[in-house]
Amino acid sequence: MKRYKLDCDPVQNGWVQSAVDEAGFRRQENLADDYETFGGGLEVLSKEELSNRTGARGYFGGLYCPTAGSIQPLSYTRELARTAIELGAQVFTESPIKTINQTSDGWSLKTDKEIEVSCGQVLICTNGYTDKLVPGLAQKLIPIRSVLMASEPLSEELRAEILPNQVTFVDKRRLILYFRYDRDGRLCVGDHGPMRDVFYPNDYKAVTRRAIKVFPKLADLKWDYKWGGRIAMTRSHLPFITQPKPGLTAGMGCNGRGVGMSTLMGINLAKSAIANMKGEERPLLDFPVTRPKSYPFHSFHPLGVKVGIAWAAFRDELQERRAQA
Ligand SMILES: Cc1cc2nc3c(=O)[nH]c(=O)nc-3n(C[C@H](O)[C@H](O)[C@H](O)COP(=O)(O)OP(=O)(O)OC[C@H]3O[C@@H](n4cnc5c(N)ncnc54)[C@H](O)[C@@H]3O)c2cc1C
Repeated sequence: MKRYKLDCDPVQNGWVQSAVDEAGFRRQENLADDYETFGGGLEVLSKEELSNRTGARGYFGGLYCPTAGSIQPLSYTRELARTAIELGAQVFTESPIKTINQTSDGWSLKTDKEIEVSCGQVLICTNGYTDKLVPGLAQKLIPIRSVLMASEPLSEELRAEILPNQVTFVDKRRLILYFRYDRDGRLCVGDHGPMRDVFYPNDYKAVTRRAIKVFPKLADLKWDYKWGGRIAMTRSHLPFITQPKPGLTAGMGCNGRGVGMSTLMGINLAKSAIANMKGEERPLLDFPVTRPKSYPFHSFHPLGVKVGIAWAAFRDELQERRAQA
C-alpha cells in the first residue's frame, strides 16, 4: 500500500478477538503462545481489559494484536487495478471466461461473448465463484456467503464507547461476528449470510440482532448500506495453489481471510507465471503446490452448509448460555 500509495483508508489501531467461555479463552492463550514462536505480537486480555478495549461486556477474555488494522476492501481492489493498469496490465471487467482449451503453444480462452485470448500461462483466481471452467476445481471449495452492513455515522459519544480508538473487533465463536469503523465513523458489522447470491432485507435481521446483543446502544441506529458476497472454504481450512496442468495454475480458498492472503498469493502466482514464461525450472513460490482434497458429495453442499450453520448456531447459543449460567 505504501509503495504504490493505494488510497484505501488503512488504519492500524489494533485488533481484538473475544472468547465466550474459559475453554475458548484457553485456546486463544495457546494461540498467543504459538505466535511467540514467530516473534509474538498477541497480548492476552482479561475480561476487564477486553471490555475496556471494545466497550463490549459478557466475554471471558480475548486477544489483542496492536499492529493489526483494517482497510476499505473495495477501494483496495480498485487501487490494485489502477496500479496494475499504470504498470501496463490490461483489465477487462464483465468478461467471464467460459472455456479454456490447451493449444500447441499454450492456452486459448474464450469469454461469454466469444472473444478469444491466447496465452502461455493461465492463473485461475476465481475463489468462491469457481464454477465448472476447470474440471474438478469447484469440488475443492465450498462457497459461503458473508453479509456486511454499515451504519449511519456514529456520534462522538457512541464512538467513545463502542470500539474506542477504532479497534477492529472479532467476536470469535463458531459463527463469527466482526466489527470495524470506516473513515466516516460508520460501524461496519459482518456475519454469515444465506446460501444464495441475491440478498433481501430479511437476510440482515440476524446480523442486526447479533450486533445489538453485543452493543445494546446500536438498537436505534440506522443501517445505511448492506451487501454481501462469497467466501471460499476448504477442507483443510487453508488456502491452496494447485496446478491441474503445466501452465494452468489455480490459487484460492482463503476461508474468509483473503484480503491479505490473496494478495500474498497473487504475488506468488505472478512470480511463478513469469518464471514459467522465462522457462526457469523452479517457480518462485512461497506457497507449496498441492493437490487439495475435494469435498465428498459436493453437489449437496447448499443443504450441508444450511445444516452446518444451524448446528453451529445452536452450539454457539448453548455455549453462551452455559458461560453465563
Ligand atoms: C461480506 C464479506 C466480508 C469479508 N470480510 C473479510 C475480512 O474481514 N477479512 C478478509 O481477509 N477477508 C474478508 N472477506 C473475504 C475476502 O473478500 C476474500 O477472501 C477475497 O476477496 C478473496 O480475493 P480473491 O481475489 O481471491 O477472490 P474474489 O475477490 O472472490 O474474486 C474472484 C473473482 O473471480 C471472478 N470470476 C469468477 N469466475 C470467473 C470467470 N469464469 N472468468 C473471469 N472472472 C471470474 C469473480 O467475478 C470475482 O471477481 C469477506 C468477504 C465478504 C463477501
